[in-house]
Amino acid sequence: MIEPRSSASASELGGQAPLLQVKDLKMHFAVRGGVFRRRVGTVHAVDGVTFSLNHGETLGLVGESGCGKSTLGRTVIRLNEPTAGSIVFGGTELAHLSGRQLRPLRTQIQMIFQDPFSSLNPRNTVGAILEGPLALHGLAESVAQRKKKVLELLDKVGLPEDAYNKFPHEFSGGQRQRIGVARAISLSPSLVICDEAVSALDVSVQSQVLNLLLELQRDMNLSYLFISHDLAVVRHMSDRVAVMYLGRIVELTDADSIYERAAHPYTQALLSAIPEPTPETREKVRQTLHGDVPSPISPPSGCHFHTRCPWATDRCRKESPVLRQYDQNEREHQVACHFPNASAKGG
Ligand code: SF4
Repeated sequence: MIEPRSSASASELGGQAPLLQVKDLKMHFAVRGGVFRRRVGTVHAVDGVTFSLNHGETLGLVGESGCGKSTLGRTVIRLNEPTAGSIVFGGTELAHLSGRQLRPLRTQIQMIFQDPFSSLNPRNTVGAILEGPLALHGLAESVAQRKKKVLELLDKVGLPEDAYNKFPHEFSGGQRQRIGVARAISLSPSLVICDEAVSALDVSVQSQVLNLLLELQRDMNLSYLFISHDLAVVRHMSDRVAVMYLGRIVELTDADSIYERAAHPYTQALLSAIPEPTPETREKVRQTLHGDVPSPISPPSGCHFHTRCPWATDRCRKESPVLRQYDQNEREHQVACHFPNASAKGG
């Protein structure tokens, strides 16, 4: 059972500048071919994304595989050099900093990966894995200090002391993800990017790791960018949710609104695909998504979603919709669609 998240974090933030502000961020990759490896195309993985994240808040990022959500996370943490746009973290512009300039900020932004096994060096003990970043950033100078800090971290993530001398292969999937969480929080960051952090785990183990993330957020006032394809998990974890389609955010609002008042046809179709627990709710009209996400090398003209949208018109094929406020009565509910909520209005 997943504990409900604290709603205090977002509301306590009035007046405080956001921790992270991303503006019109683009991440394009060259496609090369032929003998001379000439550029033959461009992958528009992230194509003009704008959002902010407050201190202690969780922003869920959802969408089908290939929508660009993981690339967005990796670009925010500067594992990719952005093509264009701005990433302001704690008042500092990160988008064009060199590796050396970024180093002091690396302690502040950490990432939890989907596959804990491949992200942990199998030749190192857990103690060595967790002590590495502490030594690198000079946060615990002596061997004894580092060991003490690692034992505290193990306790914090619910692992026994003897984990210190064991190797990653000696743990279950859930325990390995706890090691990944310990590594992510070891430098006391303010922002953690969770990239499909529980997708590889069994459902029962998932909820334990999610509860651990919520507990740590409360204790350490962490902000999460929580990337997942699983809408149910995102709902439990997030204050606000951004839905991505083919490199762009198509809807952004608070977690309850996205589930109760989704207005973009893509969000509505994603929600409609979640199995309903009761016969009454099962009666609702299903909106089926046909086909796959189109290639980001040659995205459809106008609204990227028009090739799969039941409400598409000529305007949708020609004109790209801007992400704008949808309902003036809601604090924040932005939708990128020429005809939001067309299904409720009968098209
Ligand atoms: Fe569908 Fe048109 Fe809205 Fe795109 S802009 S989601 S094609 S109705």
